[in-house]
Amino acid sequence: MLEKYHDEMLSCTACAFCKKSYYVYKFAQKESDYPKGKVMVCYGLFSKEIEEDMDVVKILQKCTLCRRCEKDCPSMIKISDIIWAGRYDLKNLLPEHEKMLQNFEKYNNIFGEKNYEKEGSEITFFMGCLVSKEMKDVVISLFDKLGIDVTVIGGCCGYPIEKIGRRVKIKLIEKEMDKLIFSCPNGMLAFKEFKPMHISQFILSLNVNFLKNNKNYIYHDSSFLGRYLGIYDEPREIIKRIGNLVEFEENREMARQCGGEIEFKIAFPQEAGEMAEYLAREAKKKDAIIVTTSPHCYSHLKEYGDVVDLLQLVEENIK
Ligand code: SF4
Repeated sequence: MLEKYHDEMLSCTACAFCKKSYYVYKFAQKESDYPKGKVMVCYGLFSKEIEEDMDVVKILQKCTLCRRCEKDCPSMIKISDIIWAGRYDLKNLLPEHEKMLQNFEKYNNIFGEKNYEKEGSEITFFMGCLVSKEMKDVVISLFDKLGIDVTVIGGCCGYPIEKIGRRVKIKLIEKEMDKLIFSCPNGMLAFKEFKPMHISQFILSLNVNFLKNNKNYIYHDSSFLGRYLGIYDEPREIIKRIGNLVEFEENREMARQCGGEIEFKIAFPQEAGEMAEYLAREAKKKDAIIVTTSPHCYSHLKEYGDVVDLLQLVEENIK
């Protein structure tokens, strides 16, 4: 895979601008903690100047693939794609990722948990592993309040497995679907060919009336919903209809990662914690509740601050 990025890797001028957003974290101390160092390790693997060992595996996996550093790169290098390609070329996985892969292969669920499914109309909601773990009941109640007999598809979309560098055969959904709705951006990316809709887009399309309150809500752009899928406005529009929308200093395409992508968090909890604390501090200073739109962000950030997922916010405030 790295062969494909040969020219891209050589375009790195080693200017180190991509280190900029890392200076606030204590964990970033070694050159290989920064994007620049990871690009160099990838080139070393490709040119066979470096051999794979578990330190190399750790270096390439210690990245959320969030694409934030690319916003600072003057050479516009696709840093995340290079690191991701490097992962596909690795023979070994970290033990935490081995476990995730085993669960996926055995249970079609990265946590080894039971998947929830439900037959209903042609409006279909893809539950996935993390939404099921965190807010299955919220989803059921939300569609009940909307008066929609929703079909629920369970199981893992396979995207977190792809992100650790293992190929997944995405199962085709053999079912007539009017709409395929996701709360998880990972699932949307895995099922791109089905024209997925994010829950925020679906809710706005229904013209729902909300109860209004006076609370401050600070919106956390998920890297995968934002930088990968380009969805920035719809969640903000819903928040504005319910309470006061507050912004992080770095938002939209410049938003910071919270560290919650599950494959990153389980392997690097300390680094993931530092990233979440940074955002939680700013939210607290602005006296605002963090709103997430990805179950990865929600399940992580809720350990560090006052957090509500958009699913919950909508479910609690439908008039
Ligand atoms: S900012 Fe871009 S060109 Fe500069 S070191 Fe990082 S990856 Fe290389």
